[in-house]
Amino acid sequence: MTGSGMITDSFDREHLWHPYTSTTAPLPAYKVKSAEGCRITLEDGTRLIEGMSSWWCAVHGYNNPVLNKAAKDQLDRMSHVMFGGLTHEPAIALGKLLLEILPDGLTHIFYADSGSVAVEVAMKMAVQYQYAVGRGERSNFVTIRSGYHGDTWNAMSVCDPVTGMHSIFGNALPVRHFVPQPRSRFGGQWDPEDILPLKDTLDRYGDGLAAMILEPVVQGAGGMWFYHPQYLVEAAKLCRERGILVIFDEIATGFGRTGKLFAYEHAGVVPDIMCIGKALTGGYMTMSAVIATDHVADMISNNYPYAFMHGPTFMGNPLACAVARASVQLLLDSGWQEKVGAIESQLKKELAHAADFPQVADVRILGAIGVIEMKEPVDIAAIQRRFVEEGVWVRPFGRLVYIMPPFIIDSSDLSVLTSALVKVVAGQ
Ligand code: PMP
Repeated sequence: MTGSGMITDSFDREHLWHPYTSTTAPLPAYKVKSAEGCRITLEDGTRLIEGMSSWWCAVHGYNNPVLNKAAKDQLDRMSHVMFGGLTHEPAIALGKLLLEILPDGLTHIFYADSGSVAVEVAMKMAVQYQYAVGRGERSNFVTIRSGYHGDTWNAMSVCDPVTGMHSIFGNALPVRHFVPQPRSRFGGQWDPEDILPLKDTLDRYGDGLAAMILEPVVQGAGGMWFYHPQYLVEAAKLCRERGILVIFDEIATGFGRTGKLFAYEHAGVVPDIMCIGKALTGGYMTMSAVIATDHVADMISNNYPYAFMHGPTFMGNPLACAVARASVQLLLDSGWQEKVGAIESQLKKELAHAADFPQVADVRILGAIGVIEMKEPVDIAAIQRRFVEEGVWVRPFGRLVYIMPPFIIDSSDLSVLTSALVKVVAGQ
């Protein structure tokens, strides 16, 4: 580390809107010069160890030569062509690779632009499926509280109503059914009572529901909560008995983050529709995919209007597909399971004692995710500055101070990250 890192840009401050912040009193945005491996270099030369993987994406770190080459090679051939009426090798090769690693039964891939769009597409698919099977009245959704599925309209409608701030958007937002977050912890005892509110809601409103949507096992931006996989087993059973589809949003959990390649594997439950994104391209560019079973795809395709009614301009973008394919292959060849296992063990060893601090409510670790839940919300600007002073990049929200580093992080960098986390949290 060579400086305070505190270089902000006046144009940026005055004209660029950053996520979840104000234009009149924006939170500071540190200016980045470059990023390489697990390091982000700020404009003044300050080097930070990356603890966030740029919000779950950059599992291979930054400036990876394999991904750079995939992007450059594809750029020289074509960066984009429309997917309507045309196809190309990068889309086909990525699709083949995804089918090798996705659960048997999920066979039809719809490429989309971002995580939120994938959620929109999945929800639309569920509604069109119900229409196709003659149950057009089934157009609503059920989900669990504290979820997060993105910021577009329908995605937002299934985010936690409080943290998703439904009250602000009032009547403009479709009203969904919410059941309590499962309280049985991952790795703890399963409490059968956890599933009862869902059963009750399905008994009452099931006839109007197209699908249940949830993040399997790990709830991300809605609360960083890890729940018992048995919930998924029970929820899927209840939904299927009633003809309600199951959508798993694996946008954050996919590609190894929880210690399994996909989080559904913790429960052995295969959804009818699954969304992936984020680490799909190793964090190089935005891309997502929605994968459906034969049954869902066939019902939609064999009934009026005989096509799935969606088609974004950048669907199947060749550049994104080429990088995604290289990223997924790199992950599979990287020994990710050992790496994530080692990160998990180290996080457990180095973060667990923070649970004894009076200001800490809970510490939880799963795969390459470490969460310290505080009793009180943190001051983001102040805590961010403290982390930068410690030479790490960590971005807390609310009461949650958490890390999900790139899988390539070595044990000494990870120790710097965990020590900084414990030190800064202790000073809160
Ligand atoms: N679903 C989940 C589980 C997510 O974590 C996110 C992003 N944080 C999204 C959907 C939305 O993805 P995007 O920001 O790419 O639209």
